[in-house]
Order: sequence, then structure tokens, then C-alpha cells
Amino acid sequence: MKNEINPFENAQRQLDIAAEILKLDPGMHAFLREPMRELHVSLPVRMDDGTVKVFKGFRVQYNDARGPCKGGIRFHPEETIDTVRALAAWMTWKCALLDLPLGGGKGGVVCEPKKMSKGELERLSRAYIRQVGRILGPEMDIPAPDVYTDAQIMAWMMDEFSAMQGHNVPGVITGKPLCLGGSCGRSDATARGGMYVIREAAKVLGIDLKGKTAAIQGYGNAGQFAHKLGQELLGLKVVAVSDSRGGIYCEAGLDPEKVMEHKATTGSVMDFPGCTNITNEELLTLDVRVLIPAALENQITEKNASQIRAKILAELANGPTTTDADGILYKNGVFVLPDFLCNAGGVTVSYFEQVQNAYNYYWPIEEVYEKLDKKMTAAFHAMYEMAQAYGVNNRVAAYLVAVSRVAEAVRMRGWV
Ligand code: GLU
Repeated sequence: MKNEINPFENAQRQLDIAAEILKLDPGMHAFLREPMRELHVSLPVRMDDGTVKVFKGFRVQYNDARGPCKGGIRFHPEETIDTVRALAAWMTWKCALLDLPLGGGKGGVVCEPKKMSKGELERLSRAYIRQVGRILGPEMDIPAPDVYTDAQIMAWMMDEFSAMQGHNVPGVITGKPLCLGGSCGRSDATARGGMYVIREAAKVLGIDLKGKTAAIQGYGNAGQFAHKLGQELLGLKVVAVSDSRGGIYCEAGLDPEKVMEHKATTGSVMDFPGCTNITNEELLTLDVRVLIPAALENQITEKNASQIRAKILAELANGPTTTDADGILYKNGVFVLPDFLCNAGGVTVSYFEQVQNAYNYYWPIEEVYEKLDKKMTAAFHAMYEMAQAYGVNNRVAAYLVAVSRVAEAVRMRGWV
């Protein structure tokens, strides 16, 4: 997205910190700082009014040393190649931290999905795959949903790719509807994985989360399920939520079903009965125990980091905190669950989906939850032990785990 802070530079700075601590070979460091491949495409789409609009799209394959690239596709009016590069880098670190046999990639299309009809979105999704499909495949690169893309879009994309190949290829994309080879538990996996690591964080911090307050910025897939599961799994009292228009606050706590219904009918969480309207900025600095940014990048910067009052900052969004803000949060004792740990539940169940597609046999939901919990818990403790061993903040620790795993694969392949 358009930001004062370039997200890719932010991602590179984060890597630089880890590279220095790991004393990474300069050649290796230089290689891991850049994407291995990118494709820029132009997508002519027939709009409902008969005119043709040309959209810009990208797919970045950041690194595939540990396995095929994996990562979502975003539809957003302010998408830029640098955002996609940053997100592809984060996918690389995310898959490595979770110890998935996958590399990292990301895609994006510059468009305004909220202003497009269903037919226009379908034609755009198919046009994207016709262009980008040449570098996709279960053994090359496997996209998934992300901001403003969903299971329906994944279904159209899988269908288009299958038509290009002349046979059904469910494993080319994840986050599909259940009837087309989706996995049980994929829709709420990002938020659920986040709840498992918040639970682990609370254990090491000695906090009992029952009845404690939480605020959630963003009310898309991750934010809505975080609201529901935060209450269900952790007993959190969610007192504030927001979406791109603004937020609401209610000291007594917000009922997730009712807020979701209100958003579905009015288009926003704002003006929910019995609440005070607040801004997105105000939400971030509320006096709550758990703060969950679940929207876009660069929300917590050096400007507002010192005002964050939460004890646990659980980053369900990608890149919500800048590197400068990180230092301030660490100094102030905010326990950060960094994005590529906290939101890794989505890609982890995506990986499970791929495995199920490959052997064409599907797991019950309990099995998905159990396997997801094990993966998230192991990744949390790998990060936490690294943080203790090196005396560094959680994000740097997560980088140390992830970067050393990717570097080892690059080295063993003999690339560097
Ligand atoms: N878009 C999600 C992410 O940022 C999921 C990616 C995937 O499932 O491949 O992690």
C-alpha cells in the first residue's frame, strides 16, 4: 500500500539485524535481501459497462530454497510492488519459522474490489491466472487468499488454472471452498493460530487471560474470527474493534455475532448501538491487556509506539509494526507476537490443505486443530528460547530462527 514507510525497506532492515547477529556470510545476506523472481503483468478486463479496464498485477517468488513458494494474493487499490516484495519476504520467514517445507511468495492486483461487481471480480481473477499461471503449480508456487480475496476467488483461480492444464489441479491454490478440496478449519485458521500463541505467551508471562480486555484493529477474516475465538478459546473480553472506516468501544464488551451482523447490514462496525465511536488511532492506544492489529501494515510506528498500553501485542496483520517502533515496544515491556509467528495459522492450514489435496484424503476438523496447535506452539517456543538465549526482542528472535533455516537450505543446495 502507499505508505510513508516503504514496507520492503522495513523488511530488509529487519533481515539486516538478524544477519548481523547470525554473522551471515555477506553473499548469503545479499541473496536473502532480494526476491529471486518477480512477474509484472497487465490484465485487460471487460467491465460491466462494456469498456475494458487494464489492471496491474504482480507475483513475487521471494525464495524457494526450502520448497515451492507459498503466499496469498491481495486485491487492493494501493498495492505496490514493494508491498508485495515485503509480504513475499515475510512469507519466506513465516514458512521457515513454522518449519513448513515451503518457500515464500506473494501476489497482488491493484484494484478496488469493493467497487467491482461479482462478474468483474471473476473476470479479473481469471485474467490474473491466465498471466501468472505460467509460474504457478503445486510444485512451484501456491497462492492463497489475503486482503480482499476469499474462497470464491480461489475457486475461480483454481478452475482457470485447471482449464489451462486440461485437468483438475486442486493443489495449485489453497483456501478453496470445502467442495473443491478446501481443508476443514482453513477459514478461521489465521485467527485460531494467533489465539494458540497468545495462550502460550500468557503462560510464559504468568497472565490469566480470562476476563481480560482486548482490542482488535481490522474486521476482515482475521479480525472477525479473532473476536469470536478470543472470547471462545481464551475468555478475553473484547472491548473495541474497528474497520477501515473507524471503530467502536464498549467497556462491557462486544458480542461478536451481533457486531458481525451489524457490519454485514451497514457495511461497518461503526455506530453499533450502545458503543462510543473511536478512530483507528485511538483503538491502538487503549488501556487493554491484549492488542490485536488485524488490518494493514505500518500502524504502529515510532510516533505512537510509546503510547501502546497493551501487555501483549498480537500481530495478526502482516507488517503492522515498523522496526523503529519495535525498539520502543521492547523497552516498554510490551510482549510482541510478531506477524510471521502470530498470523502463521493461515499458511499452516494451507499447507495441510495441500497435503490433503496431494493424497486426496481429507482430515476431520479436530485433526486440523490439533496439528495446527502443535505447529504454532512449537514455533512460539523456538522463538521464545532464541529470545532468551540471545537477549533480543521476539521479532529479532523469530528472524534468527527463520533466517538460519533458510540460509541452511540455500547453503546445502550450493547456491551460496
Ligand atoms: N495470506 C496468508 C498469509 O499472509 C496465508 C498465505 C497462505 O495460506 O499461503 O499468511
